[in-house]
Amino acid sequence: ELLANQIAAGEVIERPASVVKELVENAIDANATQVEIVIENSGLDLIKVIDNGQGIDQAEVPLAFVRHATSKIQDRHDLFNIMTLGFRGEALPSIAAVADVTLQTRTKLADTGFLYQVKGGQVAQEGPTVGRFGTIVAVRSLFYNTPARLKYLKKPQTELSLMVETINHLAMAYPNVALTLSHNGKTLVKTPGNGDLRQVLAVVYDRKTAEKMVAFEGASGHFKVNGYLSLPEQTRSSRSYFAVLVNHRFVKNFSVSNAISAGYGSKLMVGRFPIGAINIELDPLLVDVNVHPQKAEIRLSEEGELTELITQVIANRLRGENL
Ligand code: ADP
Ligand code: MG
Repeated sequence: ELLANQIAAGEVIERPASVVKELVENAIDANATQVEIVIENSGLDLIKVIDNGQGIDQAEVPLAFVRHATSKIQDRHDLFNIMTLGFRGEALPSIAAVADVTLQTRTKLADTGFLYQVKGGQVAQEGPTVGRFGTIVAVRSLFYNTPARLKYLKKPQTELSLMVETINHLAMAYPNVALTLSHNGKTLVKTPGNGDLRQVLAVVYDRKTAEKMVAFEGASGHFKVNGYLSLPEQTRSSRSYFAVLVNHRFVKNFSVSNAISAGYGSKLMVGRFPIGAINIELDPLLVDVNVHPQKAEIRLSEEGELTELITQVIANRLRGENL
């Protein structure tokens, strides 16, 4: 079982940022409104995620560490279900296969908290503990038993920026969740969690840029879109700066990115890309099921309808602003 978990871990947990993504997604799935991420030594010494979500029933905690025991997926369209981010029941077992994990949790109904520790692939400790409501997952000694993974990691600074990027993506997708990320005691990301996407953009980009951004929204038969876009002069040299969120998941889609740029038309200089964020709401059935769950790239049916909608909405909005 440990070997199977290690193989699964190879797919799910590539780097410290994968751990951060999976743990924070779990916190969001548990309806947390505040999530604090504490990182030490670029995630290799410690990744700790503290949430104020619903917690886990004591009896269910061991199951959470068994692969697929908690799988919520019925078919692959559930991937883009708007209700939960997790679906495979694979993250916690995968993390515990390549790191030491201490989980502390308490539901509203429990008299005490519950502590569960997996070390070297074995349950090292389990029992009641004092504790606040919600869940704390602490991951230590990441990749201690998979030296190949360790070797494959990029420079600490790069791994750290990938973790910040992961949190930025989740922050834009969930403006109603207050996210804090600190590294070696220094706060790197802090969002207010008041539901205002513009205030999240102020954290992701900078306050001045976000204040100048223009809100937009629109809908067509299959799609609803909304978000904030930068003025034509606020551009970057990389298209990746415009965040695309489909049903609250950060994705990459070349056609969508092109449709955004097309909305700016000739106002955009060659080789420059706008910044901002777009939420796209759609029926999960429209997402191509052949996408790999770990990849951010997605393909959609009715893509032409979506790209036309996006280009129109943005062009109209910029015209409305007399730009
Ligand atoms: P998945 O998210 O795909 O269900 P995970 O391995 O990430 O699988 O988590 C396993 C299960 O553990 C979840 O389904 C959930 O029931 C529980 N769980 C994990 N983290 C938390 C958390 N922070 N708060 C509440 N429940 C959690
Ligand atoms: Mg999960």
